[in-house]
This record gives sequence, structure tokens and C-alpha cells, in this order.
Amino acid sequence: MTTEKQNAKEHELHDRRARLLGPAYRLFYDRPLHLVRGEGVWLYDCEGRAYLDVYNNVPHVGHCHPHVVEALARQAATLNTHTRYLHETVLDLAERLTAMLPRELDTCMFACTGSEANELAVRIARSYTGGEGFIVTEHAYHGNTNTVVTLSPVHEYVARDASVQLVPAPDGYRGRYRFGTPDLGRQYASHVDEALNALDQHGVKPAALIVDTIFSSDGIYTETADYLRLAVDKVRSAGGVFIADEVQPGFGRTGERMWGFERHGVVPDIVTMGKPMGNGHPLSAVVTTRAIIEKFAERARYFNTFGGNPVSCAAGLAVLEVMESEKLQDNARNVGAHLKQKLELQLSKHEIIGDVRGQGLYIGLELVSDRKTREPASREASAVVNGLRDRGVLTGTTGRDGNVLKLRPPLVFSTENADQLIDALDATLCDVLS
Ligand code: PMP
Repeated sequence: MTTEKQNAKEHELHDRRARLLGPAYRLFYDRPLHLVRGEGVWLYDCEGRAYLDVYNNVPHVGHCHPHVVEALARQAATLNTHTRYLHETVLDLAERLTAMLPRELDTCMFACTGSEANELAVRIARSYTGGEGFIVTEHAYHGNTNTVVTLSPVHEYVARDASVQLVPAPDGYRGRYRFGTPDLGRQYASHVDEALNALDQHGVKPAALIVDTIFSSDGIYTETADYLRLAVDKVRSAGGVFIADEVQPGFGRTGERMWGFERHGVVPDIVTMGKPMGNGHPLSAVVTTRAIIEKFAERARYFNTFGGNPVSCAAGLAVLEVMESEKLQDNARNVGAHLKQKLELQLSKHEIIGDVRGQGLYIGLELVSDRKTREPASREASAVVNGLRDRGVLTGTTGRDGNVLKLRPPLVFSTENADQLIDALDATLCDVLS
């Protein structure tokens, strides 16, 4: 296709999309991408141009991994029903997942999306504690359903009442308390006391603290390890539970550990997981303790038409098989360390990079217009994302000011891919800053 024809086709798709899907949807990039194929860490547009995927965590073991595709196709060709009949796959997956978690987290319930899993976790927490109060970080995202949007202050337009209290995420770089402050974790955790007091003043009993254990939409914070342990102790003392939202860091992405919460030395009461679990197939889960689920089941029944169906569970099992056979958690650790080291060299070269942080293959690069004042370089961050796109590398931004470059590729990302990213980033930063 000539470039002119290509542009016309993209315009046509754009218009059709706006007409059919309406204005609430958003596209990435100044020049939106029309993707037609994926393989491993690569995405291809309709002209066959390859893009290095440094953004998508859903294709956890790589786009269109043949083992996952084959498992999906085989099960789809055999049987797909729901969880009201006996079937092995849902049990095999529950067995595998509980074996990957601390012993007390022994019971699994399945859903299709992270939002659904969090919604269910919220219901379970309410029934177990008798409370209605929730504590979340100031710029958290936990999903798009009615209850969960109120627990997602990233949606600034959504009204919240006093039953939802916000606490700052432990941002030691640009937050209220910075690295070098004594007892940094304790300082941040003191806001959980304030939140509990505020709930108390409004006569609301706490139900749960819910935290994305890598604070991805807050801005990716991995360095204040004792914060969460202290915060969880406080919530438990007040009668609430801790829900670890593992939708982002779970399944080995952080390299050293399988789950984000493990880095914080806490065992959650409830864990939710989603996104990478089905490698693109909608699959999510809530894992909790027997005592918590027994309390919930005293009154509630749970059925989710699609959650836990044999095809979804076959995909989930296949993802775990690939993770194991290709040693992807080790890869996340090794390639993540290599990438971080290379990014630190970029930090010494480019004044605009204020901070490099993260774990494994979940890395944040904070761009600032002034290293002293740490003024967020939001406009430049957007220019970098677009510049990288034009160089064939896909990334995004996160954080309240949209100035943190989010690097979160499929776990099959290699050191060679990391070097490709670094070359493109270096050239783009030179361009944007020239
Ligand atoms: N929790 C976190 C931490 C997330 O990042 C997301 C999705 N971005 C969700 C929950 C919601 O997941 P889903 O989009 O599958 O409903």
C-alpha cells in the first residue's frame, strides 16, 4: 500500500471507530497505530512494519504464543461450558495458583477481568469484616465497575463518599517524604492512621486496604518496602483486611518474586489477579483463605457465566506451563537488571531523566524539567512516547502528571530487545531535547 492509501485507510478506520464506538474511547499516540499481527515481543502494523512491544503486560509469555494458542484451540474444539458442571481444568488451575501462593491462601474463585475480581474481593471483604470503609492510594486504578471506580481515584470525575479514604503512595522521589527522610515507610504509613481516623469519625467501619503492590498508576514505586507491612498492620488492628491487587505486578513480572506483595513481607488476606493470566484471553481470579470465603458463603452464592470456563482455564494453565518451561520469571529478573543498568547510564547522559526505578520488567523512568525542583516533564514525556512510536518502540506513561515512562514488556523480552529500546530512547531523547 502506498503511504497515501495507507493514510486514507487509517482516516477511514478512525472515523468509523468514532462513529461506532463513541467519544469515551481513547487511542494511543498522535499517529494511532493500526496493528494486525503479533508474535513474541513484536507487533506488526498493516504495512508489515514491526514494533517492539515495551508496553503490553497482557501477552505475558509473548503475543500469540503457540503453546497458549494450541491449548485454547484444543479446548475450544472439545468443550466449553461453565462452572456448574464438574471439570478438571478449573481445578487444575486453582491447584497451580494456590501452590504459587502462601499456604493460607488456599481457595480460588474465577472471573474474567481485573475489575470483576476486585469487585468480588470488595464484596468478600465487606462480608468478612462487616465493614464498609476502604483505603486506597491517591492515584490508584482498580477497575471500571461501579464500586471499583470509586476505589480508583485516577478517575478524577468520579464522586466518592467518606467510606473511601485516600492515602499517598510511597513516592520517595517526588512525594511528601523523600529518600533520605528517616523512617520513610513509617511516615507514609502514618497516613493510614489518618484514613482510619477519618473513617471512624464518619462512623464507617473499615473493610479493607486495597493496594496495587507496585503502585503502577500512582507512578511505580518499588523502593519503600516497609511501608506496606506497616500499613497492613494498622488496617488489621482496626478490623480490616488487606487486598493485594496483583493485576499488574503478578506472575513473576518483578523478577525476584512471583507476586508484588512478597517484596513487602506481607501475606494478604485476599489476592486479585487478571491481565497476564490468560495471555490475552479474559481470565482473572480472587484467591483468599478458607475462613474468609466460608463467611462470604454463609449468605452469598457466586456464579460467573464465563469465569472459570474450561477454555479460559486451559489458557491459564498454558501460560503457567510456558512461564516454567521458558523460565520467564528468571528472564524478568535478568533482563530487567540489564535494562535498569542501561537506563541508569541514560540518566547520567540526559538531564531530563530524574529517576529510574522498578523491579524486573516493570520499570518507571521519571522525566523532570528540573532535577532540583523535580518539576514533572509531562509534555516531554508525551513527546518521548510518540517519538519512540515513530522509531518502532511502543511505551506509555503513568503517574498523576503523566511524566513517568512505563516500561512493561511481555516477559519474553531479551537483552537484545532491551538494547534496541535503549538505542531508540537515546535517539528520541536527543531529538525531543534538541
Ligand atoms: N487493577 C489494576 C492494578 C489494573 O491495572 C487494572 C487494569 N489496568 C485493573 C485492576 C482492572 O483490570 P481490567 O481492565 O481487566 O478490568
